[in-house]
Amino acid sequence: MARARAAIIVHYHEISLKGGTRPMFLRHLARNLERAAADVGPGRVRQLTGRIVLELGEHADPEAVKQRVMRVCGVANCAVAWRVPSQVEAMKPAVLRVVEGREFASFRITARRAFKTYPMTSVELNRELGTLVQERTGARVDLHDPELTVHVEVLPAETFVYADREPGPGGLPVGGSGTVVALLSGGIDSPVAAWRLMKRGCRVVFVHFHSVPYLPDTSQVKARALVERLTEWQYDSRLHLVPFGEVQREVVLAVPPPARVVVYRRLMVRIAEAIARRCGAAALVTGESLGQVASQTLANLSRIDEVATMPVLRPLIGMDKLEITAEAQRLGTFEISIEPDADCCTLFVPKHPATRMTPDEVRAAEARLDLPRLVAMAVDGAQVETFEFPARTRAAVAG
Ligand code: ATP
Ligand code: MG
Repeated sequence: MARARAAIIVHYHEISLKGGTRPMFLRHLARNLERAAADVGPGRVRQLTGRIVLELGEHADPEAVKQRVMRVCGVANCAVAWRVPSQVEAMKPAVLRVVEGREFASFRITARRAFKTYPMTSVELNRELGTLVQERTGARVDLHDPELTVHVEVLPAETFVYADREPGPGGLPVGGSGTVVALLSGGIDSPVAAWRLMKRGCRVVFVHFHSVPYLPDTSQVKARALVERLTEWQYDSRLHLVPFGEVQREVVLAVPPPARVVVYRRLMVRIAEAIARRCGAAALVTGESLGQVASQTLANLSRIDEVATMPVLRPLIGMDKLEITAEAQRLGTFEISIEPDADCCTLFVPKHPATRMTPDEVRAAEARLDLPRLVAMAVDGAQVETFEFPARTRAAVAG
């Protein structure tokens, strides 16, 4: 096995269905893979036909790199593989290395040739390598339900041998689909919504509305912790912390209680759009789910969208709370979201918000507000923080 080297072999699914944009998505995927593993196994990323290979540096920890790769959007599956020359004699020690130390009563070899001019067929390779494993281990071949599958991917210049394929998130690599602004509360839903868009290839810029000094800064602490977690999927993030307490105070003075929640939401959309335009984002994302609370009825969602000039994406609209919670747990945001806090939505919120406001009612409620001034006040007062993964450094970059 002198010439065998460990590598991570990465397969994608959806990118391979793309036409003219495939090279662009692959460039993003390669860059993100390199970035995700930067501190645990810097190595060379190579694009091969239909897959990407991360060659591991000498001091890399293959398992640690694999754990990182499993979180890179666009990855369908990945595995730690042995890379050997494409001669069957070189494949044999790699196959034995993969099976050694494992307990299994049945197995199969799944050989695939990426080019059909290879001197042996896949069936011949399966037989020859399978016989070897059978002789060494006594396990039997089971093509239908084996306890262990050994994959052998034969490319012209090199072959990859591995077991234990691990699933990735799937979807598309972050960066390939443009930028969106996510409205991030400290709740359970909006971090999941933001992640859903990352998985569709978007870079997500975060906007959090807080009510400091009217409320303590706990919601900001949560927003930071959530962004820090979500940055593990996009490597660089920006969080805009927007002061909303003064805006709410003016709303309370001018708007009757039942209309306030929808008026707050419409202001959030206007402010978030102003930020989105500044950072080149093309859409907003919220964690709304139909019917979950008063502001999320069809009528009120219409009132919110009326003030938007860019799409308001709501990836959770058809999900129920249990499904959203399960996803938050998988992402590791749930534990952060359930920490008690004082979200701005708890400030000045009426007991009985209107569930079906008409356009005229909202317009009348807003008529007594100086909307452009309120929006400008919030945008100008925003603080921007940056986040990085793996480096995990944070610094205020703007006041
Ligand atoms: P979440 O669990 O995301 O807080 P929710 O079920 O509590 O959602 P709402 O409070 O009605 O629902 O908020 C709807 C959406 O509005 C949120 O998902 C989020 O996108 C946005 N939002 C609400 N409050 C804030 C905030 N303080 N800062 C930024 N966005 C917010
Ligand atoms: Mg909430």
